[in-house]
Amino acid sequence: MNNLLKKIYHPETFREQGHQLIDLLADYLEEMSQDPSTPVLESRPPADMRAFWEKEMNHNTILSSDQLFGNIIKNSIHILHPKYMGHQVCAPAPITALASMVTDLLNNGTGIYEMGQVGSMMEFSIIKILAKAIGFESDFGGFLTSGGTLANLTALLAARSHATDVWEKGNEENYALMVSEQAHYSVDRAARIMGWGASGIIKIPTDSHFRMEVEALEMHYQAAVSSGKKVIAVVASSCSTATGSFDDINGIADFCERHNIWLHVDGAHGGSLAFSEKYKHLLSGIQRADSVIVDFHKMLLTPVLSTAVVFKKEQDSYHTFRQKASYLFNNTAEEEWFNLALRTFECTKNSLAIKIYAQLHQYGIESFDAITTQLCDRGKALAKIIEHTPGIELALIPECNIVCFRIVPIGASEEEINALNAKIRKKIIHSGDFYIVQTVLNKKVYLRTTIISPYTEVSHLQALVDRILDHPN
Ligand SMILES: *Cc1c(COP(=O)(O)O)cnc(C)c1O
Repeated sequence: MNNLLKKIYHPETFREQGHQLIDLLADYLEEMSQDPSTPVLESRPPADMRAFWEKEMNHNTILSSDQLFGNIIKNSIHILHPKYMGHQVCAPAPITALASMVTDLLNNGTGIYEMGQVGSMMEFSIIKILAKAIGFESDFGGFLTSGGTLANLTALLAARSHATDVWEKGNEENYALMVSEQAHYSVDRAARIMGWGASGIIKIPTDSHFRMEVEALEMHYQAAVSSGKKVIAVVASSCSTATGSFDDINGIADFCERHNIWLHVDGAHGGSLAFSEKYKHLLSGIQRADSVIVDFHKMLLTPVLSTAVVFKKEQDSYHTFRQKASYLFNNTAEEEWFNLALRTFECTKNSLAIKIYAQLHQYGIESFDAITTQLCDRGKALAKIIEHTPGIELALIPECNIVCFRIVPIGASEEEINALNAKIRKKIIHSGDFYIVQTVLNKKVYLRTTIISPYTEVSHLQALVDRILDHPN
């Protein structure tokens, strides 16, 4: 063996670096758990950051594992930090990070059974647990894929194959889907990828709580049909990304049943609440969907990316990348139920299930209830603080852990209020005191938080509100 390779693959190198790394990460976790003085993010301009890594890359001294990884940790955004309240990415359970190390060293690609018999068969157990939480009967099927965006596309491709022969014949009609105007952009993108263009996405207006106006579906549907469109699917947002609003799934399901249209539930974020005894009522009717997606990496303790696509009828999962009428092909595909690549967009795929398996095996589905319920409780607690604080207002009463609000100084114009809120967010991020994001609703700039870290306590939420009101202006 080449000397360099000998060193790279030497078990003792790994043992030594690994021990150092685990100590480093355990210290990191300890710090995050104890009200860290470390900023949530040491924000640096992109050009500086780029130059920094360019310089590091060309460094020829060998760094210790501590230095090598310490540098990465120091310059990263700290999702586990109690004052991280930004985008929807979970604070991974530490056991899942250990599982990642195992999956990465083994590197079993799960697309073909033989190349990943552990990861691919574990997916079936995970899909079963999720399907049961959703309320699907025994006929369900599904798999894990790389993220909500790909999962939405995969489910909508299945919806299209269910209603058309498009896989063989191409788009023969003007197909369309219906979705709330608050839906995640990945739904819009899926329709465009399928070649339906902008007019293939029929946006349904939302009510004052940013939920789809279900009564408006019929009118938009009739208008679409008269203009020659074939509506393939309706997508319910559970919940919407910007405001965490849950569409009325039962209302949408009634409409879909009336017209025999596929119902897809985008539960990337809120689908996780199927595991929360306290909050699962927000998903009422979800068992009526034809397909559902849930990101395990948003509220369910798993590192990015890991998303479940679940179909009410397993057979539908075979249609995604196959012509509907081709029974021969389908039979072959179904006989090879264990080769998941027949049903997923990916060919080679990470063993996504192992991380989720490790978590569930060690801590049970109670851990999913515990985290989702705690995060939503914190969202409610933040809303309560805001309601009781003059000078700051909610965009809406939040239903889960996504909370939108803004500071409203007396006498300021809407324009001034928008500019002020945007400026406050920038300042707060720059200081590293908190990490929050922003969104625009009805032309108003709102500060937006998603409570993510298990370490976030009500005191941190109060500190956030105090920090916002204490803006130097
Ligand atoms: C986050 C999100 C997505 C996209 O999921 P990714 O895993 O980021 O690709 C889709 N839909 C909704 C409602 C989301 O919140």
